[in-house]
Amino acid sequence: MSLNNVLKQMGASNRGDYFIMYCPKCGKKEAFCYIDDINKWNKDHSHRIPIRCNRLNKCGEVSYLNDFLEGKVTQEEIKIKERNPVKMNKEGVELLQSYCRYVTHTLHGNTHGFDFDLRGISNETMKKHGIIYNQKTFQSLINQENTKKYFGDKYRHKSYEDRDIIIPILNKEGIPERLLLRSSYRKEDNYKKEIQVMLVRRGVEIWNLQDLFGDNSTVFVTEGVYDALSIKEVCPEASVIALPGVGKYKQLLRIMKKEDIVKNVVFCFDDDEAGQESIEKAKTAFKKENIPVYSLSVEGDCNEMLQKNRKELEMEVKSAMLRIAKKSKE
Ligand SMILES: [Zn+2]
Repeated sequence: MSLNNVLKQMGASNRGDYFIMYCPKCGKKEAFCYIDDINKWNKDHSHRIPIRCNRLNKCGEVSYLNDFLEGKVTQEEIKIKERNPVKMNKEGVELLQSYCRYVTHTLHGNTHGFDFDLRGISNETMKKHGIIYNQKTFQSLINQENTKKYFGDKYRHKSYEDRDIIIPILNKEGIPERLLLRSSYRKEDNYKKEIQVMLVRRGVEIWNLQDLFGDNSTVFVTEGVYDALSIKEVCPEASVIALPGVGKYKQLLRIMKKEDIVKNVVFCFDDDEAGQESIEKAKTAFKKENIPVYSLSVEGDCNEMLQKNRKELEMEVKSAMLRIAKKSKE
């Protein structure tokens, strides 16, 4: 196995000078190895890379990364205790789900202070598509005195601060299975644009799934919700869904196959090299299932295009729809 693969298998996360990873002996993610040792190994493969378990009284064993790199220990032998990624209890999940339902269905998105557009996307479009603004941020939902015990400490980490935009990802039945958190005002490069809160283990990752089940014979597929909203902005009648990343096309394909959905699929991914490569892979996979695929030619991404040249994005989307309609009749 390659170094990157081994690190991935072991759930390694980079902490600057060292990696934190699953201890191969006890399976808790409390072992570490120094990056310096990895660098030494890179120069000389005879260098041993110790993985030391931090649970001194309970485990404290030392293993060696070399055994995994050299395939002496197979990946099946790495004891990884799969932990539930949902870091809140049932009451916490229900609280967040009913909050989303209340804002969307009772308030119709009209929360206090939500009167602004965002990145060229109008206030109306955001509200219509279930984007939630909470002036007091996500923290206010999980830090209420009587309910904060429902939520794990994870959500009190600073990366969860200042998140005033909440984007629910709904399942087929309209129940939120994930929340995407963003900030309307934090714009620094080192501030993570979007983080996820999982409400259901292995929940849906595709935003606006209901458009996939709708009557339109064509569905636009973007990477990221703001790109999808950008298309809705210029063409409200278009069906648009958003994947969290281009690579998630497999999840879309799986749902389409399972639900027996046949639609024209229009990929609207970034026009960078990585984007193009993924589009080619995705196209091949969809064609294999006899699903017609197209791609939209966008400069940068849809949201950039909306902000720079709204009219052009509108023309691009509408002409794609015409082109596909014409082709379907042939
Ligand atoms: Zn251990």
